[in-house]
Amino acid sequence: MRLFGLSLTALAWGWTAVALAATGTPASEQPLTAFPYTPSLDLPSMDQSADPCVDFYQYSCGGWMAHNPIPADQASWSVYGKLYQDNQKFLWGILDGLARQKEARNDNQQKIGDYFAACMDETAIEQAGAHPLAGMLGSIKSLRSKSALPALLSQLQLMSGDPGFLFSFGSNQDFGESTQVIAFADAGGLGLPDRDYYTDGDAHALQLRTQYRQHLAGVFRLLGDAPALAAHNAATVLGLETQLAQASLKRVDRRDPYKLFHKLDRAAVRQLMPNFEWADFLRPLGLADIKAINITEPKFYAAVDAMIATESLADLKTYLRWHAAHSAAPFLSKAFEDQRFAYFDHTLRGVPLQKPRWKRCVAQVDALLGEALGREFVARAFGPELKAATLKMTNQIEQAMRQDIEQLGWMSDDTKHQALAKLDTMVNKIGYPDRWRDYGAVAIRSDDYFGNVQRATVFEGRRQLAKIGKPLDRSEWGMTPPTVNAYYNGQMNDINFPAGVLQPPLYDPKLDDAPNYGNTGGTIGHELTHGFDDEGRQFDSAGNLKDWWAPADAKNFEERTQCIVDQYAKYVVVDDIHINSRLTLGEDVADLGGLILAHMAWQAQTANQTLENRDGLTPEQRLFVGYAQWACENDRPENQRLHAKTDPHSPGRYRVNGLMVNMPEFERAFACKAAQPMVSANRCRVW
Ligand SMILES: [Zn+2]
Repeated sequence: MRLFGLSLTALAWGWTAVALAATGTPASEQPLTAFPYTPSLDLPSMDQSADPCVDFYQYSCGGWMAHNPIPADQASWSVYGKLYQDNQKFLWGILDGLARQKEARNDNQQKIGDYFAACMDETAIEQAGAHPLAGMLGSIKSLRSKSALPALLSQLQLMSGDPGFLFSFGSNQDFGESTQVIAFADAGGLGLPDRDYYTDGDAHALQLRTQYRQHLAGVFRLLGDAPALAAHNAATVLGLETQLAQASLKRVDRRDPYKLFHKLDRAAVRQLMPNFEWADFLRPLGLADIKAINITEPKFYAAVDAMIATESLADLKTYLRWHAAHSAAPFLSKAFEDQRFAYFDHTLRGVPLQKPRWKRCVAQVDALLGEALGREFVARAFGPELKAATLKMTNQIEQAMRQDIEQLGWMSDDTKHQALAKLDTMVNKIGYPDRWRDYGAVAIRSDDYFGNVQRATVFEGRRQLAKIGKPLDRSEWGMTPPTVNAYYNGQMNDINFPAGVLQPPLYDPKLDDAPNYGNTGGTIGHELTHGFDDEGRQFDSAGNLKDWWAPADAKNFEERTQCIVDQYAKYVVVDDIHINSRLTLGEDVADLGGLILAHMAWQAQTANQTLENRDGLTPEQRLFVGYAQWACENDRPENQRLHAKTDPHSPGRYRVNGLMVNMPEFERAFACKAAQPMVSANRCRVW
């Protein structure tokens, strides 16, 4: 993942994916009919007064940071974030047009146009108030006994797609038999972004928990509770969520797939959870007959079971009421949205202003009907030449990886043989899926906003659950085409580059090879090496969790990655918070490996060309500046603190400078001297 990592088992599909957006349109903003152009190497974004050998990030991004303050509706701002916003404006133009056009629309165009129209109808949403929640709250209120809890939970989880109702249930590839899809029951049940928010004891953590309790009380007041009762209920919820957090694995431990693989038959599940009747949970989902479930975190599920046994029915219902309101808040009236924004965006991430309504509605269409919207995007923004050019670059980077593996001094021939087999079977997905998803079963109406949300969410939930017990569909994509991000999936053994990430300034067909190989080539290399990082290397070429490394090679690999762990642990994110470099290990290794491979591929691409200096930079210098300029960013301190806990990626500054110090190629390109900050005496190198 180039940007925001998903957990290994990303089971949540629905409301949570779009929850971080909210309302108010600056009058100056307009939908776009064409992308604004920024070159992949942008001179004004540099700070040429800085010495590249002292601080290469400042040299490459100083101008960008000075000219691009964080907009008031954003937690951070970056080259990726800006491109994402341009994409959103372009999608806004598409959706606004389809919303107005009532005739001659095909099925997909009707659905995304009417979804957008209903989402933009703030008058109707305001009039509905909290009413759309009545169904969920009614079924929670009428829960008469704990024995009826499993059936209720399966209904609430399906309707919301939210992992906040005690746990998260969905489908995933079997770690042991990658051609099959099985049921996965994952940890969940929390309102805060990470389990550590409940357990950390420092003053800042205590303050955030106090503010969280105030937020919970505010939501209960919106649901009609008197202030004293609302405060009492807030304390109840925080108490229950803390129990779940204490039983959850730490984020770093979740990088080890063996810690998440416990495929239990139904008898073993019953033994683990004697107080929870799984048959009642599974039956309404059409899964009564499934033989086994992968319980990712057995300790967590034992805690859920104990909680059900010991806590009162009334307290469990209070907990469910909170999660019903929390998961639906982005789709309710302004009072609910404001309450949610105040804590989750303003307090936790430092965002001053809510996002304008159009952004929120575009993000929802992308999250819930993403391939229908993606089809329109691709038709306008990703032609066959672009696909051919980026596919060619991908093949070149793979060729560089082959050459790199063959030359590795620390890996034995046997392991190399296996690694090359894995590389050869890796599938490249570029731009958009070969087969588009059929949304025919989802009814979308221009006058039924909340109904649209629920029907689209249930459709996606049922689609995920329908895979259980069936062979894997290898053609599926985990990101929508307009997404400005890319990923590697170790179980599918494929790399995925949506059309949205293959646009200027990240991929720029108008510019010379050097910055493009540095930028997009670096990203392709980054994703490729994920197949061989601390997580990815544990899966074989077929995507099975199987150790294919000779023990001495595994030891060499770990020694080399330890060098990177030690290097990044020294870097400060904000205040006195250092990078959690065990959490960022996979991404840091991918960044370094990716740039090395991009550099190799660029050399091969330009071997027979006469290259000239441009803009006062040598071709090789242009490759490094082109690389760095994908990572230019400005970040709010609150958001930096949140990312330090949850994001497996290092801050942009270290994603640039942390590589340069390890690369003799960089030292030579800028004629740096041994004692300068961008030259490390103790270089790390894995690939
Ligand atoms: Zn990554």
